Amino acid sequence: MFTLRRGNSKIIVSMPHVGTQLPESMIPYMRKAALNLPDTDWYLEDLYDFLEDLNVTVIAAHYSRYVVDLNRSADDISLYPGSDVTGLCPTDTFSGKSIYKQETHLNTTELKCRLNQFWYPYHRALASEIARIKAIHGNVIVWDAHSIRSEVPRFFNGELPQLNIGTLDGTTCQQGLIEKMLDVIKSNGDYSWVENGRFKGGFITRHYSQLSLGINTVQLEIAMRSYMDESSLKPNFDNHKAQPLRVLLKAMMQSILN
Ligand SMILES: [Zn+2]
Repeated sequence: MFTLRRGNSKIIVSMPHVGTQLPESMIPYMRKAALNLPDTDWYLEDLYDFLEDLNVTVIAAHYSRYVVDLNRSADDISLYPGSDVTGLCPTDTFSGKSIYKQETHLNTTELKCRLNQFWYPYHRALASEIARIKAIHGNVIVWDAHSIRSEVPRFFNGELPQLNIGTLDGTTCQQGLIEKMLDVIKSNGDYSWVENGRFKGGFITRHYSQLSLGINTVQLEIAMRSYMDESSLKPNFDNHKAQPLRVLLKAMMQSILN
């Protein structure tokens, strides 16, 4: 269901939206355009290829967010009430196109099945890694890694800043750690950024944070133009763009590990 690579440093990186697999049973019910999985957080594992060097734990989903969105609560409470969002088992893409040929495919039995098969195992593993790292260090930082097309008119106007840091308005992570991340971004100077702009952190960031117990969480939503060519349907990884961003991300992690 997911890849789990254990490290022993204080950071755990979660990648809930990198999965590109679909259960066989879903495929016949899906529209052709949706089978291209346009809303995947493409190539994050390539971008963050330095995690092992930093002894960082990583958990990365194998299955698409179209099966079940691991960054939504199991009871599907909206992350941004009043705003347009995609839910626990999305029925349409970010561009508003239907994922399924017939909406009736997604009934309560199907939903429970997907939760049990995909959602709970990922979250059990993540919770267990948080407990393991906390037992070693007394505190832990969950870095929920995401990326999104730079322009998605359904969710935001215009072009997204390149680095979008979400801590639910400063409540999920010690501000000192965020300051360290921001210092690295500011001293680099090449990337636009925002703290708690359009993206304030999803379910993982909100659910696991317990500052009084030393559990810090932060979401980093990266605009895809920062490391990819976004012009095609399935965006292409651009190593020329990715390399300086890798260096920056690694420096941000090293800064908060120190
Ligand atoms: Zn994502």
